[in-house]
Amino acid sequence: MTTERVAQHHRYSASGAVGWMTCAGKIAMEVGIPDTYSPYADEGSAAHFLGAECLQKGVSPRDFHGRTVVCWEKRGERDGQVFESEPLPEGAKERSRWKVTQEMVGYVANYCSYVTKLAKGGELLVEQRVHFSRAIGVEGAFGTSDTIIVHPKKLIIVDLKYGFKEVSVVKNPQMMLYSAGSLEDLSMLYDLDGIEEVEMHIFQPRLQSAPDSPDWSCNLKYLEAFTKDAKVAVERSEEAIAFFNTPNMLYDQKEWEETYLTPSEKGCQWCKAKGKCPALAKECLSDIAVLPATAEGLANLDEVVVDAIAQIPTLDFDTLAAIYKAKGKFEDWIKAIEARMLSDMLEGQKHPEWKLIKGRQGNRKWQDEEEAELTLKSMRLKLDEMYDKSVKSPTEMEKALKKARPKLWAKVEPLISRADGKTQIAPMSDKRPSINPHDDDLALLPELAKFTVEDLIDHDEIDDLL
Ligand code: SF4
Repeated sequence: MTTERVAQHHRYSASGAVGWMTCAGKIAMEVGIPDTYSPYADEGSAAHFLGAECLQKGVSPRDFHGRTVVCWEKRGERDGQVFESEPLPEGAKERSRWKVTQEMVGYVANYCSYVTKLAKGGELLVEQRVHFSRAIGVEGAFGTSDTIIVHPKKLIIVDLKYGFKEVSVVKNPQMMLYSAGSLEDLSMLYDLDGIEEVEMHIFQPRLQSAPDSPDWSCNLKYLEAFTKDAKVAVERSEEAIAFFNTPNMLYDQKEWEETYLTPSEKGCQWCKAKGKCPALAKECLSDIAVLPATAEGLANLDEVVVDAIAQIPTLDFDTLAAIYKAKGKFEDWIKAIEARMLSDMLEGQKHPEWKLIKGRQGNRKWQDEEEAELTLKSMRLKLDEMYDKSVKSPTEMEKALKKARPKLWAKVEPLISRADGKTQIAPMSDKRPSINPHDDDLALLPELAKFTVEDLIDHDEIDDLL
């Protein structure tokens, strides 16, 4: 019997906290916008499901290699995962399926061994629903923490993130709400009087190896101060919802937007209203076109944008840096506009310049690898006609040899080469050391000299606009 992993969401969810804590109007703006399905999110859910299954039953992810996880949804309110061999819950429909590959086995095995080490001497709780309604003053608020570990003096919260985008654990609202919820719920089951701090870990197996996972701790006073801020954010959000829904709004539309909408890169990242939010549109256009962020600026948008583009070749470095800062936010906003256009066009909207097409098909693959193998074997094909043999990757060989057979590893390691990383711009908060282009040891200047402003400007596009 396998564990069915089910997720339901409260509007003040822990995973959405960075949004509703920074923008009071977010929840009001999102009303009526359905959740959208993302294959990346489903792949992450499949990995979470596998991790939970292994931790709960004390088995290895290798035992599941080759099996298939089915992600399902029920009326858009709940979603979950089961192994292919298990029936879906009544009324649920399949959304996507994911093979447990060698790669997934490796990542999930790292996560499980990381959690198991942290849990030594403590009590391990997996996929634990925690309620933080009292902490933030709103009824029914809950979230599901991947892992909670109860030690006599500290609580440990571990969150598995399967994406490639690094998520900081420091002062992370999602983790702090899980912490507050754990303290609220678990006090009924455990003696938590001795707990002095909560230690939080975000484990991102695709970005880091197990021993390097960052963690951050805070004491209970700090957590209390955080939940007070969260409570204030909930009150502001409820106020925004109340005025948003009032037929004769105390505020007129524009005033409401100015009072309650606060765009920010992190806060807007997962907001469902991104594609229709006037505050985000204004901010993105202001940043990118160096516009004054005023209503007058927006009224003359066409003129101001064309004017701003004409200035691009002569912009000073500080202005370039100010525009570049908008990159992430702007890219996310354009994607949200695209998603909204796609949904409108799927409902029949037409436009003289845009149409719907079928994208490039995915790579061909065997529907069932085992069946294909059996069929090919029955054809008496030669081994080298059927199979590819390639040397395992350096990462896989390191795993196999470094600890178990260090002498062999010492002979193999010098055979590995690695292309140099491309020179790129990063925020000062990035942990990698900054490089000096004038350092003689770095042959950077030839690379940098290749770029000129001319390379970055598409003159045809500017001509079109002018
Ligand atoms: S897009 Fe950003 S500013 Fe607009 S409602 Fe969402 S979180 Fe608020």
